[in-house]
Amino acid sequence: MATATAKAVRQLHFDLPPLPYPEDALEPVISAETLKLHHGKHHKKYVDTMNQLLESTEVRGSTLEDVVRSSQGKLFNNAGQAWNHNFYWQSLTPKAAAPSGALRQRLERDFGSFEKFCEQFGAAAIGQFGSGWAWLVEKDGRLQVTATSNADTPMAHGIRCLLTLDVWEHAYYVDYRNQRERYVQAVIEQRLNWAFAEQNLERK
Ligand code: MN
Repeated sequence: MATATAKAVRQLHFDLPPLPYPEDALEPVISAETLKLHHGKHHKKYVDTMNQLLESTEVRGSTLEDVVRSSQGKLFNNAGQAWNHNFYWQSLTPKAAAPSGALRQRLERDFGSFEKFCEQFGAAAIGQFGSGWAWLVEKDGRLQVTATSNADTPMAHGIRCLLTLDVWEHAYYVDYRNQRERYVQAVIEQRLNWAFAEQNLERK
């Protein structure tokens, strides 16, 4: 007779975090209609699909980061998008203030000036072919701009992320149609959360 040694399978499940501000808080740069769809439909779908896949997939670890880092294929795509969107909502703020202090000095040291950072970040976001993300990261001790395709994320490669900008069409098409550059410029000038970037830089 079999003894009761079947191990309990730990079922991972993640909730869709609420937006850190009201849906209309980023207007006029990003409309309430866009946030409602983007958070309530697109982001939610990634989280729901990831949770379904986790019912039949064993992963190492227990955090969302663990899932992203240890998965591939469809689970990676949905977990990566779940994490990227969590990070994106925090990368935006209704009350944008220019970077200051140590972060400002790092931006000036590594890009030449804050304006040059804005140019590089904008170029990465506008130039990303197809769906993806622009990032400010810290890699090898330097602040750098990079872009990733689809669900990929520097976090999966062990790189510290400071800020991100979603350049999938669903992020801007309601408000700007095909004019990605107008969305990118408006967010860079008016909605980046430098306080969040600073927290990420200081986090050990
Ligand atoms: Mn998105």
